[in-house]
Amino acid sequence: MPHSPTERNGDAVSADEAFALIGNDTRVEIIQALWDAFEPGWGENAVPFSELFARVDIQDSGNFSYHLEKLTGHFVRKSDAGYRLTQTGLDVVRAVVSGSVTANPTLGPIAVDATCPLCDGPVEISYSDDSLRCRCTECEGIRHTDGGSGYFFLFPLPPIGLQQHDVDEALRATIVYNFHKAAAMLDGFCPVCSSGTQISVEVCPDHDPGGEDDCPNCGNPYMATALLSCPTCKRWFFFKAGGAVLTHPRVTAFYLDHGIEHRFASWESFVRSHDIEEELVSEEPFRLRVTIPAETDELQLTVDDELTVIDVDG
Ligand SMILES: [Zn+2]
Ligand SMILES: [Zn+2]
Ligand SMILES: [Zn+2]
Repeated sequence: MPHSPTERNGDAVSADEAFALIGNDTRVEIIQALWDAFEPGWGENAVPFSELFARVDIQDSGNFSYHLEKLTGHFVRKSDAGYRLTQTGLDVVRAVVSGSVTANPTLGPIAVDATCPLCDGPVEISYSDDSLRCRCTECEGIRHTDGGSGYFFLFPLPPIGLQQHDVDEALRATIVYNFHKAAAMLDGFCPVCSSGTQISVEVCPDHDPGGEDDCPNCGNPYMATALLSCPTCKRWFFFKAGGAVLTHPRVTAFYLDHGIEHRFASWESFVRSHDIEEELVSEEPFRLRVTIPAETDELQLTVDDELTVIDVDG
């Protein structure tokens, strides 16, 4: 059932008001206590007032009520059964428990169980600034970043993704965590906040990918680059535009016909993206032809300026 306009209009708070609402020790303790009581699933998860008061280190119930009232509405929901965190309240704690607010680990460079799609050389990862870098130790790779060469990608990964896994799993976690987000954005919606995605594709007419630096004409590693971004939460992805078709069911079926169980969110999928050939068929309207090879066969797909597949041949 569609929402009525009144149901859609809640009391919005600005970012500084939202920060101020939780900028108090007692309120942080209340949120922590509700989080400790929270169990995933369809359970009630409400904590009665008296129990919540007992869980928080404050003696003055009037003062406690005041702070609880401030949180109620945006971070805490009140029902007959008691108090529980809202989705927004849960997301605030999730940012903390993933280590994104509290931890700042670093790692590497350290070798992982993967080989370079360009030269078969050993691959290594390193981690800092909540991001995982992946590079080849023997060739120029595809990107030049942080003043170094040989890079494949640099993706965000919450610190917990590094701390809970060994290095090979950390690489896999990085790919799964980010590729599914990129796929959601290709489907038109931001995986972080659900806003509509903005998609732009740029093509370098005189692309020169070789050498020790990125293309002097466009500064990018690919002839056609896609930028997916969210106008609300500013999450973004930048990648080879033709790689977008790796989420398409016809591509999955094509690979399966050639004995390849293709999964988009995998290192193998990233490796396959290097074999994709791109050709600009038309600028107005924008048409990019993407060729996927497998054995002696190939599949051709044409995408428009939003990377939507509009034609399949093969
Ligand atoms: Zn290499
Ligand atoms: Zn270029
Ligand atoms: Zn967003």
